[in-house]
Amino acid sequence: MQNSNKTIRPQKLSDFVGQESIKESLKVFINSAKSRNATLDHTLFYGPPGLGKTTLSGIIANELGVSIKHTTGPAIEKVGDLAAILIGLSKGDILFIDEIHRLPKSVEEVLYSAMEDFKLPIVAGSKRSAHTIVLNLNRFTLIGATTRFGLISPPLRDRFGIVYHLELYTPEELKEIVLHDGKILNIKISDEAALLIGKRARGVPRIAIQLLRRVRDFAEVKNKRIIDSEVVIEACSSLRIDEFGLNELDRKYLHNLVGKFKGGPVGIETLSTAMGEDKGTIEDIIEPYLMKINFVLRTPKGRIATIKARKYIGKSEENTLF
Ligand code: ADP
Repeated sequence: MQNSNKTIRPQKLSDFVGQESIKESLKVFINSAKSRNATLDHTLFYGPPGLGKTTLSGIIANELGVSIKHTTGPAIEKVGDLAAILIGLSKGDILFIDEIHRLPKSVEEVLYSAMEDFKLPIVAGSKRSAHTIVLNLNRFTLIGATTRFGLISPPLRDRFGIVYHLELYTPEELKEIVLHDGKILNIKISDEAALLIGKRARGVPRIAIQLLRRVRDFAEVKNKRIIDSEVVIEACSSLRIDEFGLNELDRKYLHNLVGKFKGGPVGIETLSTAMGEDKGTIEDIIEPYLMKINFVLRTPKGRIATIKARKYIGKSEENTLF
């Protein structure tokens, strides 16, 4: 029933589910760049992990018919690392930098002129004989991805001509992804079960795909040829994912916010200390979905639990699952 080596990343814009307005405008920019035989403007994607930033970058390269070089902010430690990558790019190529907010400052500064003028200033020689030479680069497109838009410095942010915020997906969109990936992975699943996975995947395609694989494991053990809702519910309960798609980490957050801090408002620093969790994890992974389902509000005074969240925690205290 399985073949997990097949690539399930969509290769074309038309195969990419959801994010309609991004796809629509990207289509225009890609076609325009192609017809003018020009490079695409530098593009920045931001949003929580697993929403398709890397996938969209690959699709852009594919649609433009150019090569893409993948790297990450923390992997480029020195200006020399960046120089080696940039010099290796051919005309029109894409350089994809994930976690671009983690680029060292010295590297970032060199990137400015590479992005703007396609020039690379390099210091040659040492001490007294040191002088700067400027290398001309092939025109390239930088695609940056980040989960922390606020941590990108304004000068870097301003050098991206195209900036997109990726939103969490609806259960129906995730259902479509699950059905599509199920076909590629040769996993048989009913429409109803695919929607159920979509409802429990916290709006994130990566989580939906992981859940599909875990549910497939359960179905195999139970000798079920087709995944139905019953298997999904059973697998989720064993993974401690509830009907809202909430997991242990979400519940820890809500127990702190509703229990310890009486529903807020409470500042992120205080919550982070109380939970013993990194601020970034709370802001990037836990809160976007809790806000989307109206459990939590971010206000200038701090986080507030809604009535929905209070009811949920009230119920969960009587429920053995938690
Ligand atoms: P990010 O770079 O934002 O962390 P990825 O691009 O790595 O996310 O996507 C995570 C997984 O989800 C990949 O397996 C990808 O194929 C899948 N995926 C993400 N978005 C979509 C989408 N809109 N349609 C289909 N599959 C998607």
